Amino acid sequence: MEPIIATRDLKKVYRVGKVDVPALRGVDLLVQEGEFVAVVGPSGCGKSTLLHVLGGLTRPTSGHVLVDGNDFITMTDSDRTKFRRHKIGFVFQRFNLLPTLSARHNIALAQHIQGNGFNPHRFDAVVEMLGIKEKLHHRPFALSGGEQQRVAIARAVICEPKILLADEPTGNLDTENSQIVLNMMRRLNRSFRQTILMITHNPEAAAVADRIIRMRDGRVISD
Ligand code: ADP
Repeated sequence: MEPIIATRDLKKVYRVGKVDVPALRGVDLLVQEGEFVAVVGPSGCGKSTLLHVLGGLTRPTSGHVLVDGNDFITMTDSDRTKFRRHKIGFVFQRFNLLPTLSARHNIALAQHIQGNGFNPHRFDAVVEMLGIKEKLHHRPFALSGGEQQRVAIARAVICEPKILLADEPTGNLDTENSQIVLNMMRRLNRSFRQTILMITHNPEAAAVADRIIRMRDGRVISD
């Protein structure tokens, strides 16, 4: 089977003034559809950069990267944006929900933006799985951190992305809420066969994944 993510000698160099900052120094990575992968490593080792490149948010400097068969090196910026909107879901440490909208509208807006219209079956299945059915009329400020993150995850997966990319999803949560959110991600992975790539510092987070990739200085040091 074709891997859903395939990188070879992937490099990313940021140019800061006149200085080159190498963030990825040749990453080789294969991820199969349905895998739940945790990416760990010290701060500054390139985890977020890798996630941003795979999500089409950042253009790589060189190397090969195929995401669901699409080559990001040769793609135009506008094709990458289109690809991202249809194929990738993002979850961030700081939830990033729209404060003036209810949980329901935060989630439904994602379907609206993607342009496929409201899909009630998917909506119900996702909110049921994430245990937020009773919270849908609340605005973010009236929800706990764990609930906000569950709404953010619902928003990220509502359009059935090929890949869910999560950058420290439990970074702002206490132990109990972290565990709940991790269990939900695990269920998403198992029940919907959702492919997940998750950056984390949390050892418990790494433990729910099928596979742990360790990075250091812009490279994968163990897998
Ligand atoms: P991690 O997520 O593991 O903490 P990052 O991918 O954020 O690592 O950073 C890798 C390296 O790239 C670091 O040296 C960081 O300072 C640098 N870096 C990240 N983003 C940028 C940017 N937008 N501009 C310049 N340098 C950056």
